[in-house]
Amino acid sequence: MNDHVRELYDKDGNLIGCLLTAEAWQSVGDKVKNLLGIKEEPAQAPEPIHEWDTLKEYWDFNYEPDMHVHCECCGSSTPDWQQDDPRKFRLSSATLGGMVTFTCLECQAKVLKKHFKDEIVTECRPFQDKDKRLEARY
Ligand SMILES: [Zn+2]
Repeated sequence: MNDHVRELYDKDGNLIGCLLTAEAWQSVGDKVKNLLGIKEEPAQAPEPIHEWDTLKEYWDFNYEPDMHVHCECCGSSTPDWQQDDPRKFRLSSATLGGMVTFTCLECQAKVLKKHFKDEIVTECRPFQDKDKRLEARY
């Protein structure tokens, strides 16, 4: 295993770090990260764009699909959430019943758009740590 670790020194002979081969890192990387308390961000689930597309396909509300999203918690808003680059809101879910939820990428609040026959009711739920814990499971 000695070949797999190379200690790096500066010109004065002070140890500044060490380099592992890819093979070594693959075998111990997770343990090292655990020991150092480094947590990897859980991979984010992809946006369920298909749910939104399905909702649009079966759209039977008395108005056109509305792309506007506004976060009451931090004031962030967009005329069309799918067009922002970088994105301001991330789609979390969209049901056929017309419940569409977003995550505000500014303040992590949940923005709910409830589509009723004649109107959209928007709700904003501030980010809470316990939600984060649930989302962090993997
Ligand atoms: Zn926000």
